[in-house]
This record gives sequence, C-alpha cells and structure tokens, in this order.
Amino acid sequence: MPRLPPDDSSGAIPDFPVAPRTGIVIEQHGGPEALRVRALPPLPPTPDLVRVRVTHVALNHLDLWVRKGVPGHSFDLPRIPGSDVAGVLLDPAGALPVGTAVVLHPSWGCGTCAVCLDGRQDRCKAFRIRGENTDGGCVTELAVPAWQVLAIPPHLAPQEAVALPLTLLTAWHMLVTRARLGRGERVLVQAGGSGVGVMAIQIALIYGCEVHATASTPERRALLEGMGVRAWPYDAIGVREVDVVVESVGEATWAGSIRALAWGGRLVCCGATAGPDVRLNLRAVFFKQLEIVGSTMGSTGELLRAWQEVTQGRIRPVVDRVLPLSRIADAHAILEARGAFGKIVLEQDLSTARPEST
Ligand SMILES: [Zn+2]
Repeated sequence: MPRLPPDDSSGAIPDFPVAPRTGIVIEQHGGPEALRVRALPPLPPTPDLVRVRVTHVALNHLDLWVRKGVPGHSFDLPRIPGSDVAGVLLDPAGALPVGTAVVLHPSWGCGTCAVCLDGRQDRCKAFRIRGENTDGGCVTELAVPAWQVLAIPPHLAPQEAVALPLTLLTAWHMLVTRARLGRGERVLVQAGGSGVGVMAIQIALIYGCEVHATASTPERRALLEGMGVRAWPYDAIGVREVDVVVESVGEATWAGSIRALAWGGRLVCCGATAGPDVRLNLRAVFFKQLEIVGSTMGSTGELLRAWQEVTQGRIRPVVDRVLPLSRIADAHAILEARGAFGKIVLEQDLSTARPEST
C-alpha cells in the first residue's frame, strides 16, 4: 500500500514537528461501511497537551452505538471513534518520559463543578467519553492532557492493557460503588464473556465472592469456568438467591436476573445490548425488597484505584483477538454478532492504509 502523501503542513512550527495523520472517521451513522479511512490534518501545536502515537485501540459496545446511532440521542458527527487507547508518549507526561507505553483515561468531567470536585465526574453535566463526545483513538496520533495518561505496567503488553480501561471502570463502578459489593457475597454476571463481564467476574473474585456467570455456548461456558466461576446457559441459570446481578444485556436476560435475586438483592445495570424495554413485576421488587440500580462509567479516581489491581496483577485483560485497525469494520461485525470472548483489540496500521476520498 502506498504511504500517505504529506498533508498541507506549511504552517508547521519547527520545534513542534507535525506529521500528517490518518484516522477512522464516522461521518454519517450506518453499517460498518460508515467507518471511513480519512487523511487528517496534523495535530496543531498545543504545548499544554502531550502527544501520543497510537499503537492499539480496543472496541466497546459504545463504538457500535456511535456508528449506528441511537434513537432519541444525537451524536456530534463527524467523529473519530475509539474510547480505549494505548500508545507511546511523544512528549513527557509528568514523570513519564518520551517513549513510555501508556493507556488513556476513557472519560472525564469539566473538573470545576460541584460533582467533579466531589470526585463524581460520571455525574458531571459536561461528562465526556473519548470516542463518543470527543474524538477517539482510531487515529495515528492524538494529543491529551498529561493527567489522562496511565503507565502500562511492565507485565502487560500494550495490546493487552488497551483492553482494560473502559470496561474495568464500568465494572468497578457497578460493583464496588453502585452495588456496594460485600466480601463473600453471591454474584451473577449476565453475559460473563462480554468486556464488562470478564472485568466484573475478576472484581467479584477479588472480593472473595461466589461468582456465577451466563454464556450462550458450551465453549464460552468452559472459558468462564476457567476463570473460576460457575457458568450457566441463559435459559437454565442454576443458582438462586444471589446478592448482586450484573446486567448489561436487557430484554433477553432481565426476567432471569430478577428471578435469581435473593431477598434484599441488588441488580446493577450498565447497558442494554439486546434492547432496553423490559417487563418488571413490581411484586418481586417490593416483596423481595430489591434494588434496581443504574450505572454508567465511573469517576477518574475509581479508575486509578482499579488500576492498582491491574499493576498488582489481580486483574488481567481478556483479549479475544487482535486485528489490524484497517479491519475495524470486520471487528464491529464480530462484536455485533457476540462472537468475541473478552475484547477485540485493533493494532495500528493506518499509516499504510489508503485514505478514501470524499
Ligand atoms: Zn463537572
């Protein structure tokens, strides 16, 4: 494949070398064909930011929603997708020198409102998720504030570490903060092989919980059992009276989730990959004194706390496969067909991809 011709960089500042960039851009919602390879202008000189050469991006369900659109919700387009990003520092970031392998915080608040100053950025009215409300990591190079950089611990490769931030933060906030997980409780993780599922399982195991999880096929259930949990088909959950259910599926699993809860149980929900319209028998809610709790992302401090579990080796990434970033459309199709156990990671190859003309 031919390399990109140099972009119009005539305004380059000598001590801030600029390079043409290539990225995946969603200009209109649609199928996988909506993911277009585009030549992009170089990063502008922004000395208050640090530049990162992107090496890997991990897919999340959020990427599918940004591409497809969500009824009743508007995304600002065009948008470069990609919430989970790994790369190499091109500028020093605090104590981290040039060349350090890093991942990026996937979300942040305004930093000045009351909830942000309380450390609850996920409730900030200006909350931002990379790749949804701002441009993401499906690009050769980007620039971020230095605080958004997290060093990858030496025992993890970038293609592993990139699988962590968004789902780790989501699962941590669900279980630790929203469901107030207690030591030794019984936990059911619906869709245990999903990105959030494999993180929730590991967090619950750290808490010494008895962990159950669901998956669609014997192969996926065997992988779950290898993580130290009891695995069940969706339609034959063989455990009742669990204290906490982790829900991210919605319509297809909701009834089973409610049935599985013990008196005083908590259902914590972060998504509805199979649809949001569920039936709820209120008798179960009041007789069993259930709590149904919503959860979205988490705070910056929660990710730092969860990252300590990563650096100490107690939480491991689960990577289904690594594909070239130029094959992002194939990756979307696999995720959409629920064909991945854990995360699909995309490896940077856009500098050799041929950008499409408009
Ligand atoms: Zn704020």
